[in-house]
Amino acid sequence: MPADRDVSPEPGTLQCPDCHTDLALPSGKGRGTWRCPRCDCQLSGAWRLKPDSLLALSLATAFLWVPALTLPLLRLENLGLDNHASLLGCIFALMHGLYLPAGLLLLFTLLIMPLANLVAVSRLLWAARQHQPVPSPRWMWVYRQSREWAMTDIFLLGILISMTKLGDLATVTPGAGIVCLGLAVLLRLIVETLAQPEQLQRLIDQRAGEVSDA
Ligand SMILES: [Zn+2]
Repeated sequence: MPADRDVSPEPGTLQCPDCHTDLALPSGKGRGTWRCPRCDCQLSGAWRLKPDSLLALSLATAFLWVPALTLPLLRLENLGLDNHASLLGCIFALMHGLYLPAGLLLLFTLLIMPLANLVAVSRLLWAARQHQPVPSPRWMWVYRQSREWAMTDIFLLGILISMTKLGDLATVTPGAGIVCLGLAVLLRLIVETLAQPEQLQRLIDQRAGEVSDA
């Protein structure tokens, strides 16, 4: 748990957050991801972490989220019936009667968690950019949890599969919402891949340490 995160006192070493094994930091010259040899927890991504670029991508994701939520994802036409639905519309349509648990699950995994992920990663990247410590370890905790629970990518995959299946029964036209959602999901995955929590935490600690030492 990041709340009781124990930073190793030895310079040049790090404690694995999952199994608490002390590990020597890599030289930084080698390429590829860095994983704990004991529990396989990913400690570093294959690329250098650049807070400015990732903040720009997060900002672009935030702008794409508004149309992704509100514009129609797809349009169905069959025998004179014409119907379309947005992501928000899908969630609230399920918030009645028997489907309430499914609606709440969609609200949690498609709305609350992706937005928490976006806010948390932006706050952490901002701290890294400003060479400041993060005011609360809860930001990192939210970022870790939301990485697991934000499921817009799975939802998008489900829509694409259902579009091909429904194509036999009705005329399916993709809407502007699905394009924005696809782009938002792509940008979120890029940010998540490049901003590995352990690597980001080390960068924040290192940059905040440089300022306090100066
Ligand atoms: Zn480990």
